[in-house]
Amino acid sequence: MNKEKKIVVPGEEIGTTEEFLAGEGTFELKGSIISSYFGELNLDSEEMVAKVKPINPLVRLKVGDVVLAHVQDVKSSMIMVNVIRVEGNPRGVTGETSASIHVSRISEGYTSDVWKEFRIGDIIRARVMQTKPSLQLSTDKPSLGVLLGFCTRCRMPLEKKDKTLFCENCKRNELRKTAPDYGGYQFRRYR
Ligand SMILES: [Zn+2]
Repeated sequence: MNKEKKIVVPGEEIGTTEEFLAGEGTFELKGSIISSYFGELNLDSEEMVAKVKPINPLVRLKVGDVVLAHVQDVKSSMIMVNVIRVEGNPRGVTGETSASIHVSRISEGYTSDVWKEFRIGDIIRARVMQTKPSLQLSTDKPSLGVLLGFCTRCRMPLEKKDKTLFCENCKRNELRKTAPDYGGYQFRRYR
């Protein structure tokens, strides 16, 4: 049993195809085995396989992922958001995180006024519809929508009361497309 571990970078030659098979996290190039990742090298001389295990691997968004996002801008035809992370996955997101949600994909029905659904600063749950050429999300399912909204006047977190959101400070209501677990969502787990 002879296992050697060290850190390698993407593109680094880690062995030859005469010594090892190219395992997970590596590829072959002209007789060499090259690392695909920044990670921990595992040269298994028993199995004769070279592998690289990525260190703190980042997540690349894919269609169908349910994500948490932060509303950056609200326009009549769409909202612009920044994806924070894939729900339930503490790892960071790599690649494009700026996304849009078209007005037709905001709710199950017809959306006449985008400002009654989302406001700048809201934390929302959305689903990835498309990743290329641009990142596009949707919230047109009952489980999707605002998880935490802030008063547009004083920026205090809004409390859910019946079907509206209420600011205790300003004693006024605001409308949102809320997720069923609005306000009870545990953000700290994902920090
Ligand atoms: Zn307020």
